[in-house]
Amino acid sequence: MSEIVQYDILIVGSGHAGAQAAIALRQRNFSGTIALLGNEPSLPYERPPLSKEYLSGDKPFERILLRPAAFWTDRAITLLPGRTVVAVDVEAHRVTTADGGIVVYGTLIWATGGSPRRLTCAGHDLTGVHGVRTRDDVDRMLDELPMVERVVVIGGGYIGLEAAAVLTKLGKHVTVIEAQDRVLARVAGEPLSRFYEAEHRARGVDLRTGVAVSCIEEVDGAASGVRLAGGEILPCEMVIVGIGIVPAVGPLLAAGAEDDNGVTVDDHCRTTLPDVFAIGDCAAHANAFADGATIRLESVQNANDQATTVAKMLTGTPEPYHAVPWFWSNQYDLKLQTVGLTTGYDEAILRGDPAERSFSLIYLRAGRVIALDCVNRVRDYVQGRALVVGAFQVDPALMADTTIELKSLASARSEA
Ligand code: FAD
Repeated sequence: MSEIVQYDILIVGSGHAGAQAAIALRQRNFSGTIALLGNEPSLPYERPPLSKEYLSGDKPFERILLRPAAFWTDRAITLLPGRTVVAVDVEAHRVTTADGGIVVYGTLIWATGGSPRRLTCAGHDLTGVHGVRTRDDVDRMLDELPMVERVVVIGGGYIGLEAAAVLTKLGKHVTVIEAQDRVLARVAGEPLSRFYEAEHRARGVDLRTGVAVSCIEEVDGAASGVRLAGGEILPCEMVIVGIGIVPAVGPLLAAGAEDDNGVTVDDHCRTTLPDVFAIGDCAAHANAFADGATIRLESVQNANDQATTVAKMLTGTPEPYHAVPWFWSNQYDLKLQTVGLTTGYDEAILRGDPAERSFSLIYLRAGRVIALDCVNRVRDYVQGRALVVGAFQVDPALMADTTIELKSLASARSEA
């Protein structure tokens, strides 16, 4: 791409947030030119299946496309795949791509997500060491899998645990190592962590918490094991690193955008740069459901809802971002659905029986409902949302009583 091209709206990053921004703009009858530029080679696709049905082989790539090819053409959304923005010139309203191309924009929407955080120890870049972020990442894993018997997953967050579940089902011997004293420590309450630890162990996963990695061992340039801080070596042919992401915001920060572990945006997703918005995993925003703290959310919900916020702004119907966070994770036959954020909870109420593999945890802060984690309990998830949105104060004994529907508690209480 050496010629200079120009679009009314240039979206950089063609993942969930970028694609949804283009879709929402057309849904709101935006008639100007739109380009969706991204560094991946393929059509925009869903990322969550990468650690679920795509890794397991249950869904081919065509079934995880966000939209078929014709959709983008029909709506006059220009796709510019395989291009990486390396610089942003805010004064001139233009970006430069790695291949030397220049794209001029009226408005820039930055939707670049993040890259998997890498280990820093020796061996982090060996063949057989994988992050899980893109289709290419998973395709490389799938190519190697027939030769793999043992996998070590570093990091007991959702992505690591989902990959562990799939690979266990595929007959691999899986070890999960987590530096903290429980899995999912950053995102869930302790009872949920303990439940998932037990589920993985029951299926043969060697799950170890409070364990640090020293280095990745090597044979002929490929990973052959993971050496732990205590000296033990876990032999393996594949290492999966699931220790979070680093927001992909380098060019925007270099252009002067404000940084707070992500590009800072206001409640309309505006950055501090003129005519530049940021959305999705890379956007640091003040979130009402985190008590107003500035956070980044890494979820499809946030990507889609922030995309809609920008589309509303750019089509003359601004509405501040105030969406309730929600998320899901599938492991084995367990469908977890969460709503709200557990940050700062001081009480967790158990509703249902983990032994029956269908239960919810309702999190309170200062007596108010702030979040729910629902395992195989769709009804609680659907009905509990109102308790979170309204920050209700409800008698814990009533919420724990499974004979009482959560919706009756929400409707019985006025917002306190
Ligand atoms: P992305 O979808 O990552 O898209 C960003 C795009 O920008 C990428 O294609 C990237 O390559 C590209 N890019 C980066 N830098 C540049 C540049 N300089 N120039 C051009 N292009 C660039 N969320 C859920 O809610 N539920 C789940 O179950 C769930 N499971 C997940 C499983 C996996 C394996 C992963 C990786 C994520 C999962 N998520 C899940 C999170 C969810 O997918 C993300 O929150 C969502 O994709 C964020 O959308 P985004 O557009 O901000 O970023």
